[in-house]
Amino acid sequence: MKLDLKIQPLSSWITAKAQPLLIAGPCSAETEEQLVATAHLLAATGKVTALRAGIWKPRTRPGEFEGIGSIGLEWLKRAKAETGLPTAVEVATAKHVEEALKGGVDILWIGARSTANPFTVQEIADALKGVDIPVMIKNPVNPDLSLWIGALERVNNAGITKLAAIHRGFSSYEKTAFRNEPMWDLAINLKTHAPELPIICDPSHISGNRELIPYVSQKALDMDMQGLMIESHIDPSVAWTDAKQQVTPAALVELIDRLTLRKPEV
Ligand code: PEP
Ligand code: MN
Repeated sequence: MKLDLKIQPLSSWITAKAQPLLIAGPCSAETEEQLVATAHLLAATGKVTALRAGIWKPRTRPGEFEGIGSIGLEWLKRAKAETGLPTAVEVATAKHVEEALKGGVDILWIGARSTANPFTVQEIADALKGVDIPVMIKNPVNPDLSLWIGALERVNNAGITKLAAIHRGFSSYEKTAFRNEPMWDLAINLKTHAPELPIICDPSHISGNRELIPYVSQKALDMDMQGLMIESHIDPSVAWTDAKQQVTPAALVELIDRLTLRKPEV
């Protein structure tokens, strides 16, 4: 069944600096210095198209760092002003949407925990009515394609046509090498339902550790995914969140340079 989504091509809202299209930045904005310094190093690679940073972090369990909050918007503004990189943040409530829009964020994304909750997605979609901003929607934590599709439809119905899906893997009871099982067939399935919908892969959250990121990134490119979102921190060893899976900007360049791009078919 083909979905009735109204989608603008990725190239209408994001211009890749290089191939593959790469969105990179820390899991969390921690301090102004950490964010701005990371942004400078990423911009200097010439390979990064947009800067990601979480400022509102829905954590699975309480008592952990839940994001620096709205002050992070000021830091993102500075990072953008100094590097020219467009910025992307996760929004999990209508209030986040309002603040991010006021704060001049360029791209929003909905995280895996939010995608799993239709009321949350609808609340975000309602806050987006009449707004022209790109939105990327991560798959839900659980391997339920309908929830992913439902979230895309809710946001698209609100008038957002600059839309992309992010494949970040799925939680599974089985313990495997991955933090989140890629279950590639679900992404393939989404593509058959919505061939025009860009899919970006998030190898960081699939892998859960630095070592697996090159393998997952290559697999995503081989499957014709349209870009990568990779967590990069100036000093991953002291990162406040997702320390094991973040890479330095220098390691990111090395990793990207080793990937084989798909040749256009002749
Ligand atoms: C993140 O991007 O840092 C994040 C929390 O991701 P996810 O929603 O995929 O777990
Ligand atoms: Mn993260």
